[in-house]
Amino acid sequence: MQKTTCLACGIEKDMNIKEMYPYSDDSIDTEEPVSPLFKDFECQSDTDHSDFRLVTICHKCWHRVQPDMWMSQREWESLNPITNFNDLPKSPNNQDASTNTKEVA
Ligand SMILES: [Zn+2]
Repeated sequence: MQKTTCLACGIEKDMNIKEMYPYSDDSIDTEEPVSPLFKDFECQSDTDHSDFRLVTICHKCWHRVQPDMWMSQREWESLNPITNFNDLPKSPNNQDASTNTKEVA
């Protein structure tokens, strides 16, 4: 059994056991079981917009943020995560960040 940890709240899940996503109002399929943790979702630094990190996050934490294409550092920190933004693994897509910058209203 392979345990994977939500980097925000620290809950451990077995990635081989799919779960139903419990919040029907989010943009996640609730008809079919999905992975219990969403792995390698991108999170963008608030200070350096070319700095993306990869987060692994459970359904509950996902629901609290409801990220769009990626998550911002501020959204990540709103979860009171057990993993600091700066300790998150770097995204391999960092070098493409110029085509990937979030619009700021
Ligand atoms: Zn979590």
